[in-house]
Amino acid sequence: MRKIYIAGNWKMNLTFQAADDFFFHLAEYLQSTGTGDVQALICPPFTYMELATDTADQTSLSIGAQNVSQYDNGAFTGEISADILSSMDVEYCLVGHSERRQIFQESDSLINQKIQKLRKYFLIPILCVGESLSERESGKAVEVVQNQLSKCLESIEIDNDLMIAYEPVWAIGTGKTASPQQAEEIHKMIRDWIAAKYGEQVAADLPILYGGSVNPANLAELLAQPDIDGGLIGGASLDIESYIKMLKIAQKI
Ligand code: PEP
Repeated sequence: MRKIYIAGNWKMNLTFQAADDFFFHLAEYLQSTGTGDVQALICPPFTYMELATDTADQTSLSIGAQNVSQYDNGAFTGEISADILSSMDVEYCLVGHSERRQIFQESDSLINQKIQKLRKYFLIPILCVGESLSERESGKAVEVVQNQLSKCLESIEIDNDLMIAYEPVWAIGTGKTASPQQAEEIHKMIRDWIAAKYGEQVAADLPILYGGSVNPANLAELLAQPDIDGGLIGGASLDIESYIKMLKIAQKI
């Protein structure tokens, strides 16, 4: 049975003090209550990684990075390598987030290189895919997502070491969420696509998260869908009360 993931993507938010408070309260909650089959996962800014991994050492929390270099190590000022992340016990890393695709012009082929680097250092990529509003309105959502999958995963063999996040670009940070049916349709298509490329078992085990304005009010109906295995959550993951509320909702599913 697949776990449910409540994955917070903090982006470029929270001060050191606010992050410290968040992890303190989260550790208290995870140590006293636990989350059963629900996996708490936080992707903080790099500067809070040690705070995060210290918390993970004492609890069931998992930690992800928000970005990684396509290079191994060396003279790449400002970059962070998969080798460095792995040495800090980071387990996951986002790749292909629409903000990196749009603002930093990251291409599918660059994302492919980053995935290869993460796998070399045994980190699990969380590959984000999703269509823009105009692509959805012109009926191209499936084609766009399949194209991203096929280019980002070209020549990559996976076996229980990948997570996918379907994040329609028009739903990220906008307050608009895909309906549970719209999201499930794409999640099911992604699972079928993975089954055709990597086999039924890999597809059955693959966690596929939904992202795009997820919050405590809409999480339950999204998680009720058979192919939605959790949320990749930006804004609503920044507040500890809201984050714990979402862990509790996921535990009830
Ligand atoms: C995200 O960070 O990937 C995201 C989906 O953000 P938000 O939940 O704020 O829409």
